Amino acid sequence: MASSSRVLNRLAGPARQLGTRTNAPAATFTTTSCSRHLTSRSALVAKPRTRATAIPRQFTRSYADAPPTPAKTPVKKPRRIRTTFRWLWRATYLSLLTGVGFVIYDGYTDRNPEEQFAPDPTKKTLVVLGTGWGSVAFLKKLDTSNYNVIVISPRNYFLFTPLLPSCTTGNIEHRSIMEPVRQILRHKKAHAKFYEAEATRVDVEKKVIKITDNSDIKGKVHETEVPYDMLVVGVGAENATFGIPGVREHSCFLKEIRDAQAIRTKIMDCVETAAFKDQAPEEVDRLLHMVVVGGGPTGVEFAGELRDFFDDDIQKLIPDIAPRFKVTLIEALPNVLPMFSKQLIDYTESTFKEEHINILTKTMVKKVTDRTVEAEITGPDGKKSSITIPYGLLVWATGNTLRPIVKDLMAQIPAQKDSRRGLAVNEYLVVQGSRDIWAVGDCAVAGYAPTAQVASQEGAFLARLFNNMAKTQDLEQKIHDLSTGLNLKPGDTAAETQEIAGLEKQLRRIKDIKPFHYSHQGSLAYIGSEKAVADVAWLNGNVASGGKLTYLFWRSAYLSMCFSTRNRVLVALDWIKAKLYGRDISRE
Ligand SMILES: Cc1cc2nc3c(=O)[nH]c(=O)nc-3n(C[C@H](O)[C@H](O)[C@H](O)COP(=O)(O)OP(=O)(O)OC[C@H]3O[C@@H](n4cnc5c(N)ncnc54)[C@H](O)[C@@H]3O)c2cc1C
Repeated sequence: MASSSRVLNRLAGPARQLGTRTNAPAATFTTTSCSRHLTSRSALVAKPRTRATAIPRQFTRSYADAPPTPAKTPVKKPRRIRTTFRWLWRATYLSLLTGVGFVIYDGYTDRNPEEQFAPDPTKKTLVVLGTGWGSVAFLKKLDTSNYNVIVISPRNYFLFTPLLPSCTTGNIEHRSIMEPVRQILRHKKAHAKFYEAEATRVDVEKKVIKITDNSDIKGKVHETEVPYDMLVVGVGAENATFGIPGVREHSCFLKEIRDAQAIRTKIMDCVETAAFKDQAPEEVDRLLHMVVVGGGPTGVEFAGELRDFFDDDIQKLIPDIAPRFKVTLIEALPNVLPMFSKQLIDYTESTFKEEHINILTKTMVKKVTDRTVEAEITGPDGKKSSITIPYGLLVWATGNTLRPIVKDLMAQIPAQKDSRRGLAVNEYLVVQGSRDIWAVGDCAVAGYAPTAQVASQEGAFLARLFNNMAKTQDLEQKIHDLSTGLNLKPGDTAAETQEIAGLEKQLRRIKDIKPFHYSHQGSLAYIGSEKAVADVAWLNGNVASGGKLTYLFWRSAYLSMCFSTRNRVLVALDWIKAKLYGRDISRE
């Protein structure tokens, strides 16, 4: 509408001029005649041309006297630019409108899910332990109408761990990366039960699970048993401390939401204590020294986020102490990010140097006290020396170890006695040596790295397997019923025989499920100063890249991986908010 009226005005301009100068019958360009001829641009343009015959000589001469217009009109270029911009604007406008429409629709369907039906009590009871990457990927793809599904986890939400380091500095608010598990279950076809509890023991003989409510508020019953026919274990892993004294007591871990909240509070506590009146300089240095142990993606991302926080926000708000802020990253191996290519490792290390993040490689932590880290450092000549590092905040991000429930389960299954890093599973994710138990994610050992990518692919694969198993049982039952009918009712059985043949063909196809195969999509890590590194699988090879563009890719990749549109919107809004107003430095 707006553009057509603009076209009309542009054309009406010279027309009005024509009318006044020539005293030609004004009716030609009166509003009514215009509106009558508004149907197309050519119709409007044609009008003045036909009227030109009625224009007096003097007027026409003034045009004729003008220098001849060159064949190549210079007006063309700006017009093309204007058209491009107009189309760009229209495309942006349309995409924005579609985006808003989609978000509204998604919010509506999220809040108004379809009716669920109660599961058939004669079907098998399937218990799922955990609400992490593996279990939630499994639940998302599982057809819950085939089983009586029970989910047990001490956490009633799914956590998007890759963005957890951003929560420690307030770049992202923690609720933006959480998705309530009841919301996920409410969108399944058939109802599934959820118990917020910790599974403390699986009795593989009796096929029962002992569960305990470990929350602050406990009812009269806070311990009970849940029987199962089939069990999927997706309990993840715990933080490894390697038995180093003082780690559990004095350091912060970075695995759960409460860890990120504790770190955020401690950072600000250190800053405010360092800014306290008459604080001794060496104490200010200690308080503002943040030490990160573990040079994997979690440790590197956290170090980068910390540096950004100080450079972008603390420096502006508390400039007198900001120059004394220091980050040290300790790694036992010869370099950080061992899963990345050599060039990206070098790029990360040089970026850290620019950001004044101190990297101590080949350094083993031996002891942690409430104020210092004692470590042994191996020099380039192979000589070992001891160092004591004073710290204000210590974050421990070194790797995984088994949860007690997994250890206990392994102890009950003789075939698991040689497994050290978790439940050994076969290529169909069946726990070796067990009956009706499967495992996914960090608690399972299938020969892959403990990552969210592996866990979610395993969960999705297992759901397909379970859906197929249910279909197989249904088909086998149908074939059995039809065959029994054939024996009882002799006569013309051509139709039944044909149906049985069709069902058997279907059954063979369903039973032919391929074993689990992990497809690596690549590795990504944020390294601070709006730079990221990426080793991405491309065709049959790998593409390695680092820098600001990779950072945009990192952001878009994580945004697209978020669990729901709601999470995506919240994370995007948090990023915008932090960019516009800075991170919130108030201490909770
Ligand atoms: C800070 C951080 C950043 C990361 N970034 C990335 C990344 O960028 N890319 C990537 O691929 N991977 C990343 N990872 C690794 C990834 O998060 C894990 O590999 C993944 O979470 C493993 O999934 P899981 O389902 O096995 O376990 P988790 O996701 O850890 O889930 C375990 C679940 O089991 C529950 N549970 C625990 N004990 C019990 C019990 N006794 N009974 C019942 N339930 C129990 C827990 O509450 C939880 O719900 C990151 C990890 C962290 C900590």
